[in-house]
Formats: sequence, structure tokens, C-alpha cells
Amino acid sequence: MTIGILGGGQLGYMLALAGYPLGLHFRFLDPSPEAPVGRIANRVTADFNDALALEKFSHGLEVVTYEFENVPVAAAKFLAERVPVYPPAVALEEAQERLREKRLFRRLGIPTTEFAEIGKREDLDAAVRQVGLPSMLKTCRMGYDGKGQWLLQTAEEVGKLRPELPDVPMILEKFVPFTRELSILGVRGRGGEMAFYPLILNHHRGGILRLSLAPAPDLTASLQQEAEHAAQKVLEALDYVGALCIEFFEVGGRLLANEMAPRVHNSGHWTIEGAVTSQFENHLRAILGMPLGSTAAVGVSAMINLIGEIPESAEVLNVSNAHLHLYGKEPRAGRKLGHVTVRADHPEKLEQRLIALPDFFRRPEYCLEKALPEFLAKRA
Ligand code: AMP
Repeated sequence: MTIGILGGGQLGYMLALAGYPLGLHFRFLDPSPEAPVGRIANRVTADFNDALALEKFSHGLEVVTYEFENVPVAAAKFLAERVPVYPPAVALEEAQERLREKRLFRRLGIPTTEFAEIGKREDLDAAVRQVGLPSMLKTCRMGYDGKGQWLLQTAEEVGKLRPELPDVPMILEKFVPFTRELSILGVRGRGGEMAFYPLILNHHRGGILRLSLAPAPDLTASLQQEAEHAAQKVLEALDYVGALCIEFFEVGGRLLANEMAPRVHNSGHWTIEGAVTSQFENHLRAILGMPLGSTAAVGVSAMINLIGEIPESAEVLNVSNAHLHLYGKEPRAGRKLGHVTVRADHPEKLEQRLIALPDFFRRPEYCLEKALPEFLAKRA
């Protein structure tokens, strides 16, 4: 059985690694001849808009999925006329555009921060009047990892930024003074069955995810339920099949949905070692119509992204229950090159193992000091 995957980055790489034990084969399509999956799977180098290449790519595939959410919707629809495509193209369509996404949340009764549409540059002032300051200005499309985003705190900043803005549709969102950022991963099978992983606590820096702790510390049953309820509404409304991630801000003990990803997600990498079934395996099980696996956490985990640089492998592997994942990419500033997951049976043990990580991880960008100030004080 061969699965076609649009996009050939690390998410695809980990999908394939999860699928090989199940006897699955993979064929990837990515415009870049350097896409990391080339190391381990059959990779077709072609543009997502190349109909001939898509046609050829689709031959003999059991099902098509994607690991990159900015795949053109037209490509997903073109393939869907030839083979089953999961999640459905409409999920891509909703997630690719921030306004649509926030309106979907609102329509489903999922709370979000206040926001206003900026169709053209001249609408900025009206949006600022409506939403107020401080607020976040974001391009509606193609923004990720903090790109295409500006924090606006004062009227002067708005005036200064105005001439520099790209003339593309944007959204202005009221700044959320959140206490924590959390995400949930849900998975829905072809028969409509659903399973949810425990909420994950995420630390970002420069708009990029740096550290995830799972299950989120101090996780209450009601918060988990609130997140599952939101994810369930989206999964059902879109007749979704596969893994879906929703990112939230926690503020005043409640959740505001920020965005969703119609695919496996960076904040779920800990599930490889830290859950009974990984998000990657569960995504594959879902799209193939196989039974979903347990989403229960096995103890507690911390996942640290390796961005722009990688530590000495031996120094990481020297720590008990630390797992190193390198994606085989050329190092470049700001690039996700790999991740480390540290797992333990209980939080105190996890603390000890994180403290034992090499000094490489002491730098502020790894957020360990922010997440675990008491531990690090103990180490000093
Ligand atoms: P996003 O691309 O929407 O995930 O935004 C990247 C990061 O910017 C988030 O993880 C937050 O840390 C921050 N951020 C985005 N939108 C807001 C907001 N409305 N209020 C406060 N922080 C935000």
C-alpha cells in the first residue's frame, strides 16, 4: 500500500518513519530537490501546480495526505478526483486563511480574540479603532513561525508601519495577555471516531515553537474538556479525517482559539516516545480507515526544537530517556533541524533529566529557564 504525501519536510519524514512498521510505502511530492524525505522515501520533485506531475504522482496510490498546509487547494482538489484525499481539501482552505479560520471558530461557538478584517491598506485605521491597541497585525495568508506579523502597541507605531506594509489582505487581532499557550491534537477516523491527546504547553520565541511540555502541567479535566470540545466541533464540521491541531491562548482560565493546522503538528512530536500511539501513526491509521490507537500519555515529556544549530549527539544521548531526532537538513539560521524529546514517568524525574542536558540547552532560546526556573536554580 503506497501513501502519497504532499510536502517533503520533517513532518512527512516522521510520517514515513511511523508508517514503515505498518508495512506502508510512501511517495512524496515537493518542489524542492532538497526536501528531507529524499533520504528515506521515493520523492517526486515537481511544483504543486504541475497537473501532469500530479496526475503521474497519483497513479497507484491508496490515499493522499499532506504534511504542509500551504499546498494549493486546487492541487488537493485535482488529486481528490483521482484518489481519496484526507484531510478534505476544505480543511486546507479554512486553515490557509486566518480570517476564514477565525470566522469558522466563531461560527462553531469557539471563543477567539476580537479581530477585524483589513482588505486593503487603507482599512488599517478603522480596524485599529474597532479592535483597539495593543493588537497583532497579521497577513491572512502564508504567515507562519512569526512571519508576516507585527505587534502594534501605539498609534505612532501604526503610523510608522503603515507605508511598509505589504498590500495584501490582513487581519488585526486584539493582543491576548495570555498566561499560557496550549495546543490540542485530535484525530478523526474515516468512520467518524475521534481521539484526543492531552493538552500541550508550548513556549514560543520569535514566533517559533521552542519547547513543549506534555501533558501540560496543572492540566485540569475541565480545561481538557474545553479543548476537546472545540476540536470535536471543527473535526465534525469539516467531516475531517486525520490529525488536526488547534492552538489556544489560556487567559483567565479559559481558552481562546488562535489557529489550527490540518495536519500533524510540531507540538505533537513528543507523542513518538511520550504517548501510546504517536500522532504520526494515528494520522496514518485515520486516513487508511484503520482503528485509532490510544492517545494516552506515557508519563511526562518535554520536546525541544533544534533551530539553526544542533548539539553534540553524544551529549544528548548521554541523558537517560532523551531521544534525538535529526531531519537531515543543512543548518541555516531559523531552520528547524531536529528536536529532542525527554521522557520520564513523573515530573520530578523529567526535571532531573532536563537539568542533565548539555549546556547547549541553557541558552534563553530553548526556553527551559522560562519553563522551569526552579529546576535551573537547583542545577546552578
Ligand atoms: P501565530 O502565527 O498566530 O501562531 O502567532 C505566533 C505567536 O505570536 C503565537 O504563538 C503567540 O506567541 C503570538 N501571538 C499571535 N497572536 C497573538 C495575539 N492575538 N495575542 C498575543 N500573542 C499573539
